[in-house]
Amino acid sequence: MKIGTKLIHNGNEMDPQTGALSIPIYQTSTYHQEDIIKGQEFEYSRSENPTRKALENTIAKLENGDKGFAFSSGMAATSSVLSIFSSNDHIVICEDVYGGTYRIASNFFSKFKVETTFVNAADLSEIERSIKDNTKALFLESPSNPLLKITDLKACVEIGRKNNLILIIDNTFMSPYLQRPLDLGFDIVIHSGTKFIGGHSDVVGGLVAVKGEDLSKRVYTVQNGFGAILGPQDSWLLLRGLKTLKVRMDYQQKNTQKLAEWLLTNENIEKVYYPGLSSHEGHSIHLAQADGAGAVLSFKTINTEKALNFMKKVTLAAVAVSLGGVETIVSYPVKMSHASMPKKERERLGITDNLIRVSVGLEDIGDLINDFEQALEE
Ligand SMILES: *Cc1c(COP(=O)(O)O)cnc(C)c1O
Repeated sequence: MKIGTKLIHNGNEMDPQTGALSIPIYQTSTYHQEDIIKGQEFEYSRSENPTRKALENTIAKLENGDKGFAFSSGMAATSSVLSIFSSNDHIVICEDVYGGTYRIASNFFSKFKVETTFVNAADLSEIERSIKDNTKALFLESPSNPLLKITDLKACVEIGRKNNLILIIDNTFMSPYLQRPLDLGFDIVIHSGTKFIGGHSDVVGGLVAVKGEDLSKRVYTVQNGFGAILGPQDSWLLLRGLKTLKVRMDYQQKNTQKLAEWLLTNENIEKVYYPGLSSHEGHSIHLAQADGAGAVLSFKTINTEKALNFMKKVTLAAVAVSLGGVETIVSYPVKMSHASMPKKERERLGITDNLIRVSVGLEDIGDLINDFEQALEE
């Protein structure tokens, strides 16, 4: 069965009690226990809740994992996954990982002596050189944010297997519809459900899919113990979002390709970053490991003034952080997602003052292009 069908039919689409085609929002903290000796599936909602369970089983199915977990945000998901490690464990992380992940890994987990090294994951030899005796995991993101850098995931799986590492990936930009890293050999996939999975800019949540019983148990122990779970109402919103993921992604991706190609022809643009362009570095690697290029692109204007001007003049796009909603969102990484990064480090990574990131929505692409055109003019 193809993923498009699986989004609708995955065994979790119906309430087993009533046949309702929308999983009820089980707004309950606790459950009457018929037999205190025998125990039962649902006893307390931090541990298990039927609405959250349906969502967790769904993400496990979609990513071809053994177990799924839902957290209160993408960062709660990432932090909980990183919490399976112990002091003196070392983790290799790609340097252009999501800003929140960078912060939590370098400023928070360091307090517990979880060691991290940030590498340019496009350079496989740099990954290999950074692996030490106590290296336990490799944490990647492809395409990355905001420059859509591509990492060769299959090659990284080989490096990981050779060195006995747990392979973790943040798959938010692709969603399970476009990229399924567990099939490539990864062990843990993380999503910010806030983005394409929710899809409507109305919920914050995080999802994890895990391969293997032992790893699943380790993640569950953190989820149940630490307790950063997703509530039933928000679980329901993510379940609803998943039902339309395919049509949204297909359409938004088509819009993004058109916008990227148009931007290439505009005289005010210096460079366009989008894995769907044959000129994009890693284009063919990406298409070998994913089913599409997604709906996020970035571009650089010919000077900073043009970029600032664009952010002021654009009308059809929301100026905001976040991405993956039905509405087009433009963001200015230097002042938003990467504001906390030192300027020197930002520039080294190519995150310059003339860079704009676009999450392309469901608008008519002609209208969007017209609006971008006027916003780029003097
Ligand atoms: C937004 C985002 C996160 C964090 O998710 P939240 O739901 O905001 O906590 C992590 N990774 C990526 C790639 C993201 O875009």
